[in-house]
Amino acid sequence: MTTKITQQSKTVELAKLDKKHLLHPATNPKALIDNGPPIIFAKGKGVIVTSTDDVEYIDGMSMLWNVNLGHGNQELADAGNSQLSTLAYASSFKGFSNEPSILLAEKLAELAPGDLNSVFYTSGGSESNDTAIKLARFYWELKGKSEKRKIIALTNAYHGVTIGAQTATGLAAFHKFASSNIDGVVRAKAHLLNSELGDKSDPNYADSIRGTIEREGAETIAGIIIEPVQGAGGVNIPPEGYLEAVRKICDEHNILFMADEVICGFGRTGKMFGVNNWNVVPDMMSIAKGITSGYSQLGGVMMNDEIRETIANFDAVIPHGFTYSGHPTACAIGLKNIEILERDNIIDHVNEMEKELKKGLDYLAEKHSIVTNCRVIGLLAAFELYEEPTSGKLFDPTVFPANAVVDACFNRQLIVRALGAHNQIVAIAPPLIINKEEIEKMIQIIDDSITAFKNTRE
Ligand code: PMP
Repeated sequence: MTTKITQQSKTVELAKLDKKHLLHPATNPKALIDNGPPIIFAKGKGVIVTSTDDVEYIDGMSMLWNVNLGHGNQELADAGNSQLSTLAYASSFKGFSNEPSILLAEKLAELAPGDLNSVFYTSGGSESNDTAIKLARFYWELKGKSEKRKIIALTNAYHGVTIGAQTATGLAAFHKFASSNIDGVVRAKAHLLNSELGDKSDPNYADSIRGTIEREGAETIAGIIIEPVQGAGGVNIPPEGYLEAVRKICDEHNILFMADEVICGFGRTGKMFGVNNWNVVPDMMSIAKGITSGYSQLGGVMMNDEIRETIANFDAVIPHGFTYSGHPTACAIGLKNIEILERDNIIDHVNEMEKELKKGLDYLAEKHSIVTNCRVIGLLAAFELYEEPTSGKLFDPTVFPANAVVDACFNRQLIVRALGAHNQIVAIAPPLIINKEEIEKMIQIIDDSITAFKNTRE
């Protein structure tokens, strides 16, 4: 029987049930049960999310970098409602199809760079990356090169948690979890521009993508998976020329360039896709999150005409597909989401707001000597906390500086996120519809939170 919940006791009752029945993702279960309560969100509007206790938070992370058009968007809700009452769900297996999935595929082909004209739908980012890995291997098998099956993935990469995507993820904790990894993923060090341009005197050359290809043999490598801007690994923007250099390496060695646009896609970086910042056309592209602004679960892998045509000539059933591949309601919301992005010139707005966010971070770095390495691309940003930035001295590992600042922000009703192997990075990725005043409010809260953190250290 479901527990009856009165308005008065709502948060307490829900928290009790949550602790009893939910195992939360990416959460310390013991700490939650011992020290909870969980924060239970009840509603949202624009950049604001409101808890069951009626506390309003500025969502400075778009939740999980995905609520790009902000909360409570009526047009997205209406698009979902309308499709739900017309045809909520239809299978895409065995040639079945539906109008929203077809029209969205056409729109994606129009928006995507180069000849990335086809999409394989999934329900999210991890499924997209697992699919991309499988399709890359399948493509080479069809080309008669089945020995080309390794995937190069980068340090600090985040590609998700299904077993293939998790293996490609470059963050240590994920690899230890339940010893679940696939074979054939090799790690290269991220963002070694000189090495990738061919400078063998670079001390890290052996660990670079070039060095890795020389060691492993290009004839064994299917593709390189790469986030145009690394997200969960620390909001790491590649050096200028890096992605172009990787594209060139892929061309030289007949290796697929697989862009993971799960965070970067759909305007987050001030362009429609992250790769558009660098004039690079990938062979495959994983998309999710911002495609629906989180109003429904949807992802996909886009592929170029060569891959599509090679696979299209395979004359047997492809044994890969998800129940929710091409979900009509998710696709209808995706279509509306893109329509709004274009109609309201959201990407121009992102570029305007980028300047405000940059100004804010510069102010924080100027005011607080512990703030350093500020970076902003579109509305994807981070800064770092060092005890002594000039000498590169980090805080003692027991301090957890980013957690401290993020918690202080939360107590002041702003959601931002702690990242980094040394818990030194604070990430900011607000909804793309955020305005100047809301950015100023965010910066004010972060400013106060850093001051509060510094005060605890004195
Ligand atoms: N790739 C990237 C770059 C991501 O940031 C994420 C999620 N944060 C994923 C893949 C995995 O997506 P999902 O959680 O939807 O499976």
